[in-house]
Amino acid sequence: MNLHEYQSKQLFHQYQIPIPKGVTVSTPEAVADACAELGGARWVVKAQVHAGGRGKAGGVVLVDSPERAAAEARRLLGSRLVTHQSGPAGLPIGTLLIEVPTPIAQELYLSALVDRESRQILFIASAAGGMDIEQVAAQTPERILLTRVHVAAGLQPYQVRRLGFGLGLDAAQIKALGKLMGGLYKLFTESDASLVEVNPLVVTESGELIALDAKVNLDDNALYRHPDLEALRDPSQEDPREAEAKAHELNYISLEGNIGCMVNGAGLAMATMDLVQLHGGTPANFLDVGGGATADRVAEAFKLILSDPKVRAVLVNIFGGIVRCDLIAEGIIQAVRDVHVGVPVVVRLEGTNAHQGLQMLAASGLALETAASLAEAADKVVAAAARTH
Ligand code: GDP
Ligand code: MN
Repeated sequence: MNLHEYQSKQLFHQYQIPIPKGVTVSTPEAVADACAELGGARWVVKAQVHAGGRGKAGGVVLVDSPERAAAEARRLLGSRLVTHQSGPAGLPIGTLLIEVPTPIAQELYLSALVDRESRQILFIASAAGGMDIEQVAAQTPERILLTRVHVAAGLQPYQVRRLGFGLGLDAAQIKALGKLMGGLYKLFTESDASLVEVNPLVVTESGELIALDAKVNLDDNALYRHPDLEALRDPSQEDPREAEAKAHELNYISLEGNIGCMVNGAGLAMATMDLVQLHGGTPANFLDVGGGATADRVAEAFKLILSDPKVRAVLVNIFGGIVRCDLIAEGIIQAVRDVHVGVPVVVRLEGTNAHQGLQMLAASGLALETAASLAEAADKVVAAAARTH
């Protein structure tokens, strides 16, 4: 689960990580009071969406009057912000963070994430902050500094010093960096985060360190022990299909491609996606209907896949071990009766009652292609998607 910048900054504040002074508004009418409360003569208006790259997309603006701030609020609130991370449809803006501007001398990058390879928490820092860190890593990898924290030992002072020297900070700033990284590390472990990112971490004109931006991603599997964090969820920022899937206990993840995949079992679903790729296609989703799938659940899954406008063809790949193929066939037929299917569907059923399932599909009069093997199914669905393009 992702948090908004303003929510992440509230967490930062709890862990004594310095942030700019700011307030949130959700209507243009509230802007004047917000500016008055913050004081000063200039303000930064920041659209709150679950995507980075807001600055370049016009979602972060510096204004020099409360009237300009209100005008930006009227422009932004209720609209959708499209950034290079948001997808073409963009994300709805329901909240703005208004802040006192920070005088920036330098923009740094700092993040912490779970490094699965070393099973440690990895801090990444760079003097090239404010930019796309992936680009910095690809083009100038020598500008990326790394340090891995052993969970038993915790963050060590020498690790902070090494990063601090690498970033070109002076002694007082390295001390501040130590407090800041200590806070980030504590926040990270106590909230079961998977990523905490500060981009940019700025050095102000007076030499202080301030987290100008904040991003926290939480591990969904640990949310059950953080009801306070779970309450920060903003469904407007989440894929409606993923929310729908959750309601039907389906394991669904939306992807970029155009081939809808309905599979039972996470491992088989991964293998199916690999085979689709191998045959030159790209999956539109990961979907595991689960071992104990009922006809109803299969019908819901099918509708979910078809509700994605990107989908040009659907691949159903079921291995009937625990689940019976005739039940899957029943679900598919039920779903097709409920919703219009405008794209080709390729079905591969194998295992318990596969023959019966295939017979039911054939007798249903539905325009389905069947395949005898997974490779053949992948081949057929990729060809079908190309035809409907
Ligand atoms: P992002 O584009 O979504 O990552 O949003 P950020 O919060 O990182 O803001 C984008 C950029 O806006 C930053 O890299 C800064 O250059 C600029 N910016 C944001 N807040 C301030 C501020 O208080 N003062 C100044 N001078 N620039 C700011
Ligand atoms: Mn940023």
